[in-house]
Amino acid sequence: MLIVMRKDASPEACQRVEEVIEALGFTPVTVPGPSRVAICVTGNEGPVPSAELERLPAVAEVIRVSRPYKLVSREVHPENSTVAVGDVVIGGEKPILIAGPCSVETESRTLEIAHAVKTRGASMFRAGAFKPRTSPYAFQGLGLEGLPTLARVREETGLPVVTEVVDTAHVEIVAEHVDMLQVGARNMQNYALLERLAVTPKPVLLKRGPAATLEEWLMAAEYLLSGGNSQVVLCERGIRTFADHARNTLDLNVVPLVREISHLPILVDPSHGTGDRKRVLPMSLAALACGAQGLLVETHTAPSTAYSDAAQTIDIATLGEIGAALPSIDLRGTDQ
Ligand code: PEP
Ligand code: MN
Repeated sequence: MLIVMRKDASPEACQRVEEVIEALGFTPVTVPGPSRVAICVTGNEGPVPSAELERLPAVAEVIRVSRPYKLVSREVHPENSTVAVGDVVIGGEKPILIAGPCSVETESRTLEIAHAVKTRGASMFRAGAFKPRTSPYAFQGLGLEGLPTLARVREETGLPVVTEVVDTAHVEIVAEHVDMLQVGARNMQNYALLERLAVTPKPVLLKRGPAATLEEWLMAAEYLLSGGNSQVVLCERGIRTFADHARNTLDLNVVPLVREISHLPILVDPSHGTGDRKRVLPMSLAALACGAQGLLVETHTAPSTAYSDAAQTIDIATLGEIGAALPSIDLRGTDQ
């Protein structure tokens, strides 16, 4: 249920609505917008007595929210959300490019890659210190030791940095070293982690789980917003299907649909979505064509020697081709 307040509603009138919602045993979440304030009723399992709310002063409209997710939906927040990561704005008029290796490597190699991606159009840097790997024998990432390298990248290049956090116990220390926290595909439904990130004052990059429906993905985002963190960016990275010609099936179909039903920005990761560096450029362009507000691309100065995910890691020249495509794209008017 969404209570839309009249344009001229006073703060007292809004507060009164919140108090009534609380008195009914529900939780109000106020969503300010440029044209009007909306107050969302959350925490209800059954029907909300809407007549009682309709009668309150300065209430313009009471709308039934038809989907299980509320705060992430356009019904509640009609305008696009933008998420600022340092001085980079995600969800604005221009798509953004995040690039870097799969894993944090030695400090000198990581810095070399960061400087190189910056010259080819990347406005943010990515690299994982913690790597959740299918095999316990595979490289697991440098862990805590990799974090100072990420802070160094930010310091030396000025690029905001995103890295994955896999454990609630590490959230604080990871947040001290980087600008944005990534929830990896395997952790999309790790609700303890989502709840912890909801109270962390850092933007979150929420990857889609390999077997998650759109609804499950948006409900995971709802955990973050309902817990207090609205700085959320979605990232499609491919799902598990019967197709065995690619590491994952990059579900670009979901991009325009997310843009239609949610106000949250959405990025695409064509690296994990294909598993093959030859397909990263064409699928990057395809992602931009269908309305992705940015890309997350595994990139390396010597891709075949990358510590992890070498097969899907592109070189600097290929990143340059992707970077060159970005300035001509204008995202205004691409949402529904
Ligand atoms: C990554 O971005 O390196 C990563 C591990 O991605 P995903 O969680 O999508 O597999
Ligand atoms: Mn990877």
